[in-house]
Amino acid sequence: MLNVVILGAGPAAVVCALGVQRLGYNVTVVSEARRFSAVEGVSQRVLESLQHAGLRNVLDTVEQACVRSVLWNGEYNEQNHEYLLDRPRFDQALRQQLQDAGVPLLTQRVLRVHSTQHGHQIQLGSGQVVTADFLIEARGRQAPGSGKKMRGPETLSLLNRWQGPPQPVKTALHSHHDGWSWMAQLADGRCYWQLTLDVASAQLPSKERLLKYCQQRRQASIFAQEFFQQYEAQNIDLHVRSSSSTLCNESCGSNWLRIGDAAMAVDPLSGNGIFQALSSALQAPAVLYTLLEKPQQAALAKEFHQQRIEHLFLRFARLGRDFYTLEKQWLHEPFWLARQQWPDQRSTHHEADFSQLQLAHRPVIENGEIVSREVVISPDQPLGMWHHSGIALAPMLRQLREQGLRDLLGKYSVIEQGYINSWLTNQGYFANK
Ligand SMILES: Cc1cc2nc3c(=O)[nH]c(=O)nc-3n(C[C@H](O)[C@H](O)[C@H](O)COP(=O)(O)OP(=O)(O)OC[C@H]3O[C@@H](n4cnc5c(N)ncnc54)[C@H](O)[C@@H]3O)c2cc1C
Repeated sequence: MLNVVILGAGPAAVVCALGVQRLGYNVTVVSEARRFSAVEGVSQRVLESLQHAGLRNVLDTVEQACVRSVLWNGEYNEQNHEYLLDRPRFDQALRQQLQDAGVPLLTQRVLRVHSTQHGHQIQLGSGQVVTADFLIEARGRQAPGSGKKMRGPETLSLLNRWQGPPQPVKTALHSHHDGWSWMAQLADGRCYWQLTLDVASAQLPSKERLLKYCQQRRQASIFAQEFFQQYEAQNIDLHVRSSSSTLCNESCGSNWLRIGDAAMAVDPLSGNGIFQALSSALQAPAVLYTLLEKPQQAALAKEFHQQRIEHLFLRFARLGRDFYTLEKQWLHEPFWLARQQWPDQRSTHHEADFSQLQLAHRPVIENGEIVSREVVISPDQPLGMWHHSGIALAPMLRQLREQGLRDLLGKYSVIEQGYINSWLTNQGYFANK
């Protein structure tokens, strides 16, 4: 039986490992433990993806939804909520999920990977060498590059962590002339403050003075002082992370795949890192199956994986740009100037326009493999819309154009007519009628 090895044990690796195991392949995960402790905020949509991927135990580690206060462009609001993930607990639950499913996990550092078209040799920190027929690279931002296709402005995040008194869970986001800060407080009193800056223009002191610098920045911020209730933090941990947006050159070959942050890493401002990691991991088993079992469809499988990674990357990059653009106080500061223009000036969302819909063949997942099917494409959905509530859209659109709405609807049940009407409304069909 073919032997699949997955490098990394973050959300992308674990979700993918469970999917590959369900296909009946031998799968082994190799990962060292994460080297720092962080909390991250996620949306309801991420919790739904975790549920969809069958990671119920992992969901138990998520904190209750809390209010996120935002001070951006000098305006204060408390409109959004987010769920906090305590990454060490979350990562431990991911590993437990592997163990429960019987997927072997080698807790080792990967030193080197030697790949040929016949397979892979993975050299571990212990000196052991593991071989794989198929390799999935999911070591996050630490994954050695396949070359970068796109890279956003160089960005780094300084994370401070300390223990304060127990408090209700809360988070906040705050813009500064040279970046932004995100802060969180957990019920047990753990406090997190993360300052994100532009590498080129931030005038950072030497490594030894970085902690002092962070303290001074926090003390100078009334917003941060109020958030942490003037608590004098002691024994602060400092961790520096690169947080530039990166899209790898190639995310799929005939016997390998890149998923999660190893394929594309988004700006943490978007809060979509874990969401994108799960998206690429959920599609990976179908791509792998097609590459291994249906070599005649290999080109289609590669196109499917690559296009979806690039599409999501650009979507989140433009969403990030739009959010940076809402900040107008420091238009000429290097941090804002660079991020308000990257990746381009194309709009994130196109107005629905029924006349722009076209029929085309695109790769889709059908019965666990990648096949080419006729779909409906629009400027907003260039990868295609295939089904809506079980209704195949391409034949439906063709019938609509040939026969008109009345005859079309007559062929469907009342419930299906409702689905068709709502889809057509979303595509702008009724807008000019
Ligand atoms: C500053 C910052 C803040 C962020 N905040 C958020 C947020 O609030 N919300 C959100 O959704 N996302 C956030 N993210 C993004 C999020 O952390 C990632 O998108 C997500 O964890 C990616 O999952 P992954 O499985 O691809 O990789 P990771 O979760 O990074 O997992 C990679 C795994 O590989 C292992 N590994 C790495 N190198 C080796 C090696 N050589 N040998 C063996 N193992 C190795 C690591 O230990 C780790 O277990 C943030 C990112 C940054 C940089």
